[in-house]
Amino acid sequence: MTNLSFQEWKTKASKLNFRNQAFIGGNFVNSISGKTLASINPATGDVQTQVSECDYQDIDLAVIAARRVFEKGHWSRMAPADRKAVLLKLSDLIRENLVELALLDSLDMGKLVTDAATVDVPGSAMFFQWHAEAIDKMYDEIAPTGVGDLAMISREPLGVVGAVIPWNFPLDMATWKAAAALATGNSIVLKPAEQSSLSALRLAELAMEAGIPEGVFNVVPGFGETAGKALGLHPDVDCLVFTGSTVVGKLFQQYAGQSNMKQVWLETGGKSPNLIFADCHDLEAASKMAAFSIFYNQGEVCSANSRLLIERSIKDEFLSKLSALAETMQPGNPLNPDSKMGAMVNEEQTNRVMRYINEGKASANLITGGERVKVDGKGYFIQPTIFDNVDQNDSIAREEIFGPVLSVIAFDTEEEALQIANKSEYGLAASVWTDDLSRALRVSKKLNAGTVSVNTVDALSAVTPFGGVKQSGFGRDLSLHSFDKYTSLKTTWIKYTH
Ligand code: NAP
Ligand code: MG
Repeated sequence: MTNLSFQEWKTKASKLNFRNQAFIGGNFVNSISGKTLASINPATGDVQTQVSECDYQDIDLAVIAARRVFEKGHWSRMAPADRKAVLLKLSDLIRENLVELALLDSLDMGKLVTDAATVDVPGSAMFFQWHAEAIDKMYDEIAPTGVGDLAMISREPLGVVGAVIPWNFPLDMATWKAAAALATGNSIVLKPAEQSSLSALRLAELAMEAGIPEGVFNVVPGFGETAGKALGLHPDVDCLVFTGSTVVGKLFQQYAGQSNMKQVWLETGGKSPNLIFADCHDLEAASKMAAFSIFYNQGEVCSANSRLLIERSIKDEFLSKLSALAETMQPGNPLNPDSKMGAMVNEEQTNRVMRYINEGKASANLITGGERVKVDGKGYFIQPTIFDNVDQNDSIAREEIFGPVLSVIAFDTEEEALQIANKSEYGLAASVWTDDLSRALRVSKKLNAGTVSVNTVDALSAVTPFGGVKQSGFGRDLSLHSFDKYTSLKTTWIKYTH
């Protein structure tokens, strides 16, 4: 089903029927103001539909609906095995609607449709399935109190979860939050990014079709400064989970402090280092994965390995392999299965990335790329770009660019590599390439990162937690640890006569 031709993808895209209203209390509704925001295809610049723009009053209605059903217990007190059955059905429905969901993300934010169809959508189905299958295998605890006292420690759902997500993996980010929140019995109010509401709206509809009760899964498209802020400040939201930039993550901490002290869990930016040591024998694999980790999804990946730290003795050999690879990865039409890179999400992000590229041109050596291009005379595309001789204090070495731009820094010793790697306000991911096991373990231990990948990049799976340290945030998605964010521990202490 995923090996469609360019023409077949285009034909299917032209027949799509967009869900473009807010989804509140089990119904598609217009926003109260009647306002809309444009869904723009960044590969063409065309407006494909207008999406309801929610504001405080719409968020309030969604929170009321979410709270009402939570209190009634239709979902929150449903037996875990029954919640599992519904979420497994949802995962099946995602697979059945793979082509449509892949197209929605590709058209909304410019990613390659084949990536959406082979990675994002199957991933979403798998994450729902994994969390569904886990939830009826979780046991509560009895504390070791001694005779005469029985202390039970149980996991309780929190209530209403607000989720605010970015545009780079629209369906997957919605899934990462919703799968664990719903499996544990919460209701959710999800605000997608303004650039990419379409797949989340379809997901909510599929959730209803799977049997999730009305009001449990609400989607409120809108702008961050209005809808996102309203969710962050809402006094009846128990927990706010966020993926996005560090700047906005800090705002959510403020919103919580200004309102009801809701729990806040943040997955924010990154400037992840990829350390290549000269004792790595497979420089072929290392160069392919280095290119993948910065150019996949146009570099719009929070854990992108955007800093390449390379041992000086192998730098020239490695960079010639890497720039040859980059030249084969030029952007193309996202619906064309032969394209190697898609469109940037929008004009603003394109301009932002080009500002960094121009700063790089002034301070470092451009070895490939560096230009904005059009495809078929349209759209927002940037060439895969590599800068060598980057100073670790330059903006392109320190700041998250969120585009296909790699900064290369040479090192001479392991100590120096670690010093450069950890000199960052971020700590989301890191990669290490070496054949020396002791070095792999030693360096991994010393890297400040939520995930360290050794002899690979961006290792990620449903069975391992994902999240950061330092200003990359806190709290973990995926794995059983994700349930920690969405549950509180309740102690019930019973005295009895013995
Ligand atoms: P962003 O600007 O922080 O936006 C993320 C979400 O926050 C969007 O839904 C946005 O709404 C909303 N928002 C914006 N301003 C807000 C405000 N004042 N109050 C409340 N909500 C607000 O990030 P982005 O540009 O969409 O995404 C890129 C960022 O996400 C990068 O920094 C990247 O590293 C990070 N990211 C992190 C991870 C991770 O797991 N750590 C994963 C993916 C992405 P609008 O759409 O209206 O702006
Ligand atoms: Mg768009």
